Amino acid sequence: MALKINELCVNCDVCEPACPNSAITQGETVYVIDPALCTECVGHFDEPQCVMVCPVECIDPDPEHPESEPQLLAKLLRLQGGHLDTTPPEANP
Ligand code: SF4
Ligand code: SF4
Repeated sequence: MALKINELCVNCDVCEPACPNSAITQGETVYVIDPALCTECVGHFDEPQCVMVCPVECIDPDPEHPESEPQLLAKLLRLQGGHLDTTPPEANP
């Protein structure tokens, strides 16, 4: 299931560089997660990195995008052009 940033976001920009899939961008009022890119960090990390770094706990599961772990892994595979690379980005060890 993709995650979703709620209105409590304080636009601190901490989560954006932490995302291994570049799924987070600044929106009109708060930061937003692209559900087509969010894999819940499956394949990269044990925990969603954005949730771990967010200082105000404003990132929730998005019930409009339910996905199982195999589906999330398949999404990651598609995003990576069929070559699954689960190495965390060097900038985000
Ligand atoms: S859960 Fe992971 S992939 Fe999804 S937006 Fe957060 S950091 Fe990015
Ligand atoms: S870390 Fe949390 S508060 Fe900061 S921009 Fe991301 S979602 Fe918003």
